[in-house]
Amino acid sequence: MDIQLILDKYLSRLPQGIATRIFNSVKDIPFVKKAVEKELNAMMAELEGSIKPYKDKLDSFARIPEKGLTHKGILTMMEDIKKQEMAKWEEGYVSGAVYHGDDKHIDFLNKIYAINSQSNPLHSDVWPSAAKFESEIVAMTADMLGAGRTKDEICGVVSSGGTESILLAMKAYRDRARKEKKITKPEMIVPVTAHAAFDKAARYFNIKIIHIPVGDDCRAMVFAAKKAITKNTIVMVGSSPCFPHGVIDPIEELSEIARKKGIGFHTDACLGGFILPWAEKLGYDVPPLDFRLPGVTSISADTHKYGYAAKGTSVILYRGAALRRYQYFTITDWPGGLYFSPTFAGSRPGALSSACWAAMVSMGEKGYMDATKKILQTAAKIKKGIQKIPELKILGNPMWVIAFASDSFNIYQVMDQMGQKGWSLNGLHKPACVHICVTLRHARPGVAQRFLKDLQTSVDFVKANPDEKGQMAPVYGMAATIPFRGLVGEMMEKYIDLIYKVE
Ligand SMILES: *Cc1c(COP(=O)(O)O)cnc(C)c1O
Repeated sequence: MDIQLILDKYLSRLPQGIATRIFNSVKDIPFVKKAVEKELNAMMAELEGSIKPYKDKLDSFARIPEKGLTHKGILTMMEDIKKQEMAKWEEGYVSGAVYHGDDKHIDFLNKIYAINSQSNPLHSDVWPSAAKFESEIVAMTADMLGAGRTKDEICGVVSSGGTESILLAMKAYRDRARKEKKITKPEMIVPVTAHAAFDKAARYFNIKIIHIPVGDDCRAMVFAAKKAITKNTIVMVGSSPCFPHGVIDPIEELSEIARKKGIGFHTDACLGGFILPWAEKLGYDVPPLDFRLPGVTSISADTHKYGYAAKGTSVILYRGAALRRYQYFTITDWPGGLYFSPTFAGSRPGALSSACWAAMVSMGEKGYMDATKKILQTAAKIKKGIQKIPELKILGNPMWVIAFASDSFNIYQVMDQMGQKGWSLNGLHKPACVHICVTLRHARPGVAQRFLKDLQTSVDFVKANPDEKGQMAPVYGMAATIPFRGLVGEMMEKYIDLIYKVE
């Protein structure tokens, strides 16, 4: 029994609510459960090869080896793996992921890391340098995002990444609302296109998330956001730009509504924080997103994306020290002593902060401006090229994260074809589309042309072979059918299990 086929055929024709209810009521019947399980396992088996390519090639360790391996052997193995894995991103075949990637830059950051590898900001007495680096990372980021142009104090902390920055901010808003407004059933208003980290925050911290729709231009609908405000609203969110389609929400209007209602407004500039300020200086038409807007009360900006630091740092900024305090943790009666930490972690990698600081001061304003210019010029070339392919359409009006869809065929089949040519693009849904997030890797000579040539070939292939089933197209197809949502969640959990399985 092919459960996927049956459900696809019958349930997906029903209205969403009914289909989901029917599926939910039958999915626990033993024989249905078994069939579903079988289907999922078959799918996982197909994916397994791509998650575990070293299965038969490298020694695996399910327990600590009795006698340690030699440094030389380990280093050789690591170098081999690195060579294999960097081939893809180095040549610019990957969307996002590695944002700078030049040898000299990486070698420099690695040296800084090595010098500071023992540093732990938790012990600020032993490594006062960590406090210097982190306070300056925050100050430089704040300055870049309009801190000097408001009379309020802008402050923040260094976190481990965009997700942590967002989680910290949402926790701060929740705790502030509980203390200052006695809100016990907090709600946050978030465009559907905002990063999944906001949903994560909602689940972790028990905040009700109200998703608001976006218009045809992929930007959050201001009217819907305004209508969603209740007495329990603690914060409203806008992306600058959003991850899926790279378009900027109407931050000015949204933050003004939030300000008038006395609620927080978070600009998620994880992706754009280190591009848009420079783009503005370069003369591009950039709508305001930062602390120059009086309603904006927090901003997340990822140093480990276009700040060109190594992975593992981000900045969360607040308007006013009082709001930042709600993110802190302190405990006075722990037998382990007086304990405090600014973020979720206890011990932290000071080396990553020092490398982040080094990335910022070595790039300098000029370095960031040059990088931004290259990226935006490359993106413009890619946009133009996609516009010339009649079967494709670009979603919204993006700057450097370009999402495209098709009315003529299944766009995931194009993604699969691009995959076969070595490209690792992002598959998105609701609506079905694929994006490329342009980085400095794509700004090198010939990469944009190669992308457009491969894209044209892929489109031609899919047009000629509409029934070709690739690897990811069926998975995305399944994810798109409404009754399968629950199933797809299960599939992703199995996927995570698989990652942690030792072969
Ligand atoms: C990348 C990104 C995040 C989250 O960043 P991580 O560093 O992956 O945790 C949040 N928002 C946007 C818009 C992003 O692009």
